[in-house]
Amino acid sequence: MKKTLFLTICIVCSFGAFAQWTPAQTEWYYPVPPKVTPGKTPGAAPSDAIILFDGSDLSKWVNDKDQNPEWIVKDGVLSIKPGTGGIKTKEHFGDCQLHIEFRSPAPENYNGQNRGNSGIFLMSQYELQVLDGDNNETYVNGMVGSIYKQTAPLANAYTRNGEWQVYDIYWKAPKFGTGDELESPAMITVVLNGILVQNNYMLKGHTPYIGLPQYTPHGRLPLMLQDHGTAVSFRNIWIRNL
Ligand code: MG
Repeated sequence: MKKTLFLTICIVCSFGAFAQWTPAQTEWYYPVPPKVTPGKTPGAAPSDAIILFDGSDLSKWVNDKDQNPEWIVKDGVLSIKPGTGGIKTKEHFGDCQLHIEFRSPAPENYNGQNRGNSGIFLMSQYELQVLDGDNNETYVNGMVGSIYKQTAPLANAYTRNGEWQVYDIYWKAPKFGTGDELESPAMITVVLNGILVQNNYMLKGHTPYIGLPQYTPHGRLPLMLQDHGTAVSFRNIWIRNL
């Protein structure tokens, strides 16, 4: 009885608190979000995207020595030339939406981390793994869709070796305070072939091969693609600054 009376009083009081409000007090009109025209087909770049690779050349990229990359562009496809090192964008990015498609080479006799390994390094240091996920056993926090050595994907959404795989990536850069302290960690959401594989994952830091991740203060940095010794191919790469 006492509990019911208390709840009734609470409801009446809260109704009273909002009674003087009008609908217009919780509606706003500015700033108006920009008009963005979607691509004509699924995966096509929207009107405000920066096209990083459209099938024709590597003019938006350099190698790790800041020279023209030796990776191969042929028939609209970009392929790693193993042993020549990673490539990175000339432009630097922070918060972004990234679309990138990749295809693993034929497995030959390679398995695990040696089969179709590459990586999408957001801000040059946080790796979303690229790997052949077609019957390819390895540690799960190193499989396709993982944040390398931090977290496994929610699902293996890879289709079949030889088929194009589509990544859509939503990235929130880490923020650092004036004293270089970490204010908010990096966060990533990843969709692979239309399936959510990372759901707003909060990164623990960068991506070392050995040891634990940590943060070092930085601003905007290039997007990097890894050369891990196999001829992974890419196409249709575009990015939107957020
Ligand atoms: Mg890798």
